[in-house]
Amino acid sequence: MERIQLASDLSFSRLIHGLWRLDKWNYSTEDTIELVEYCLEQGITTFDHADIYGHYTCEERFGKVLKVKPSLREQMEIVTKCGIKLISSNRPEHKIKHYDTSKEHIVASVEQSLKNFRTDYIDVLLIHRPDPFMNPEEVAEAFTKLKEEGKVRYFGVSNFKRSQLNMLQSYLNFPLVTNQIELTAYQLENFQDGTVDLCLEKRMPPMAWSPLAGGKIFTSEKERAVRLREALNSVGKEIGAQSIDEVLYTWLLVHPAKIMPIVGSGKKERIQRAVNALSLTMTRQQWFTIYQASLGHEVP
Ligand code: NAP
Repeated sequence: MERIQLASDLSFSRLIHGLWRLDKWNYSTEDTIELVEYCLEQGITTFDHADIYGHYTCEERFGKVLKVKPSLREQMEIVTKCGIKLISSNRPEHKIKHYDTSKEHIVASVEQSLKNFRTDYIDVLLIHRPDPFMNPEEVAEAFTKLKEEGKVRYFGVSNFKRSQLNMLQSYLNFPLVTNQIELTAYQLENFQDGTVDLCLEKRMPPMAWSPLAGGKIFTSEKERAVRLREALNSVGKEIGAQSIDEVLYTWLLVHPAKIMPIVGSGKKERIQRAVNALSLTMTRQQWFTIYQASLGHEVP
């Protein structure tokens, strides 16, 4: 599978697998091992997590895979996030959902993630959401400490707009390597507000979360979804896609920003459809057919 270079000694697989929903799949450790090995066989080596997924339980579930098969660690890149504090029975001290990008919290969160994953290092740590109470000097101190200690190799952000990313970058001595953002034909905001432009400007390939609109695209009866499904079906026929998910992935993959879609399904046949999309292509006019269907009108 194609790889995307994010730094001289860091590359991600073009498709990433996301573990947000791991706790919902009711998988045993053996099932999870099978899933991880299936991804690796397909060339999907990058796995996306966050401390909070599954109410703070998904990292540990994944860690059980690495406990049984520690040799898998060197075949993969682990991405995780921190900075959101959820109200959860697993964190009874949180009285309100809030963000925490203090040095103390970032460092503590990484220490916990390392234990959960049973690993010595995280490949990329992302700040999960822009924090209106962020002290970027503290974030820089935390990142520098974690890098120097070898606990985190590289850093990035998630859901950051242009000004927020530029602001944090200005406090760091090393480049942020990615911005993980919502990118799907169903939700065009980041294509329109300068967020993707900044990725292009900085040569910083973005990770695309919810590339299938979290599954809404298959079932929603909203006008936008209905219009988009029609366009996806018609372009799909033209490009030889087997299903509309392949068309949605292709729409992201052909974009010049080197978008890395995060596949959110735990089902092998659905992961396979993302892989199929890597061999499809789409013309500019087909791309705009889908864009227009999502917009609901012609481009100006
Ligand atoms: P997605 O691929 O847009 O949505 C996955 C959902 O769609 C799953 O519930 C899946 O169900 C369903 N689905 C897939 N194919 C389907 C089909 N053919 N018919 C019906 N339903 C179908 O991705 P996502 O899970 O929302 O997000 C992907 C990853 O992005 C997450 O795992 C996480 O790592 C990351 N993420 C990050 C942020 C952030 O703020 N940084 C936010 C959200 C997500 P099945 O599981 O049953 O296949």
